[in-house]
Amino acid sequence: MPANILLVEDEPAIQELIAANLARAGHHVVRASDAETAQRIVREALPDLVLLDWMLPGASGIEFARRLRAEERTREIPIIMLTARGEEQDKVTGLEIGADDYVTKPFSPRELVARIKAVLRRRAPQATEDAVELGGLRLDPATHRVTAGDKALALGPTEFRLLHFLMTHPERVHSRAQLLDQVWGDHVFVEERTVDVHIRRLRCALEPTQHDGLIQTVRGSGYRLSVQAQQAATVS
Ligand code: CA
Repeated sequence: MPANILLVEDEPAIQELIAANLARAGHHVVRASDAETAQRIVREALPDLVLLDWMLPGASGIEFARRLRAEERTREIPIIMLTARGEEQDKVTGLEIGADDYVTKPFSPRELVARIKAVLRRRAPQATEDAVELGGLRLDPATHRVTAGDKALALGPTEFRLLHFLMTHPERVHSRAQLLDQVWGDHVFVEERTVDVHIRRLRCALEPTQHDGLIQTVRGSGYRLSVQAQQAATVS
């Protein structure tokens, strides 16, 4: 799955160069030239990652990063800081405000793409093309296939995204609201019971190979994909 990347950079030539390279690497890029525009974009839809220039007209990249980290809704967005300043103190400041990585200009586009991949792998694995294997299931985002051993399972597009998110965030309980944000996109006005409908379809799709037990309902909280709980259930 390509990642949605918000690029905040005020120098047109650099913005163009980075955007072209990210697009070539298969990502969707949304651009902003200042923090205020970036803030409006984030309010509309959460990006998978923010590439943030330090020196911007108006509010600086550091101020914008602080704002993102201060708000519940945007706290978890991975941030890579871009800067022309290579001083040690700047790096420390960048990492202190919670940036995930720090790239000093001039950098090679290939290095930047590699850093983005590393941060996404760590912080937003559902936004990468990496295949995931768990509990006897294998999900391959590149080919859109889910297999259990040599059996292919038929999943609709929403069930596929739902399973991808759950497999990349296993053993944790996700509320219906969180699943809507992560799988349907936030600010999408869908009723919470829609989640239940797709969980039901997902379980049906996993039933032929008895993998439906991986998806657990946690009463009053939401849903969880758990290999441990399924194993415990099989043993008892
Ligand atoms: Ca700048």
